[in-house]
Amino acid sequence: MEKILVIGHKNPDTDSICSSLAMANLQTKLRGEEVISCRLGEINEETKYALNYFKVEAPKLIEKVDEGQEVILVDHNEFTQSVEGIEKTKILAVVDHHRINNFQTSEPLFYYAQPVGCTATVLFELYKSNNVEIEQQIAGLMLSAIISDTLLLKSPTTTDKDKKAVEELAKIANVDISKYGLEMLKAGTNLDKYTEEELINLDAKTMEKENIKYVIAQVNTVSIPDVLKRKEKIEHEINKVIEAKGLSLFVFVITDIVNSNSTAIVLGERTDAISKTYEIRDNLAEMPGVVSRKKQVLPLVEKNI
Ligand code: MG
Ligand code: MG
Ligand code: MG
Repeated sequence: MEKILVIGHKNPDTDSICSSLAMANLQTKLRGEEVISCRLGEINEETKYALNYFKVEAPKLIEKVDEGQEVILVDHNEFTQSVEGIEKTKILAVVDHHRINNFQTSEPLFYYAQPVGCTATVLFELYKSNNVEIEQQIAGLMLSAIISDTLLLKSPTTTDKDKKAVEELAKIANVDISKYGLEMLKAGTNLDKYTEEELINLDAKTMEKENIKYVIAQVNTVSIPDVLKRKEKIEHEINKVIEAKGLSLFVFVITDIVNSNSTAIVLGERTDAISKTYEIRDNLAEMPGVVSRKKQVLPLVEKNI
């Protein structure tokens, strides 16, 4: 019998990596057999910082899964964001904090989701309700995930549950939240090493609504003008992806994590989904106060597309 795999979403962020590791840790303890943490892509600079800091190995890289494989999904449920072959797996559980979309199973499953800032916050409660102690390294990973997803508790997605979890996890992990958090977030703004092709894929999510396919990608920076120096090359890469994948819209959100603002490069046939709300000039939309794809950009596109 193949071991159970815990899988986060494609183009993994810190939550997808760290929650996968934490969920595999919890499940291994609860089931008394090894459950394997997996990832669907390269580790980004921010996540690398967290893994190095807490001395944890990255999850196993996989590209697809076989028919009948038992899997647990964390930090996503939409099949468009999941592993190749997901339709033919047996999904045992989902732990998540996103809307439910493009998701169905043929058998009953454990589904635990909450409208909180991070999957690790949901996992924190799962550890508690199962009376499982959280080890220092795992606490550090969960803390990193919450800091990442909530931009150090500043994103509008942040809830009291996230704050409480962060407080408790920081004690177990034995770190200073703001000092560690800033260092980790800053590590993630190191975008120079990425090519434009990598940049637009770093944190890209493909969405589908009634056969309209679109992508919302996001990068964090401390200087939007710095990223926009590469605007033409980025646009060139985005247009290639639009063509290759038949997308109706590509929104590339550049988020200033210091000032909590975003500017987006918007391309495709359906730029109206953005321009109904934000003026687009030279393919650019300024979005003051916007930092969350999930709560601010995605609902807007879904309403207008
Ligand atoms: Mg995520
Ligand atoms: Mg998340
Ligand atoms: Mg994110």
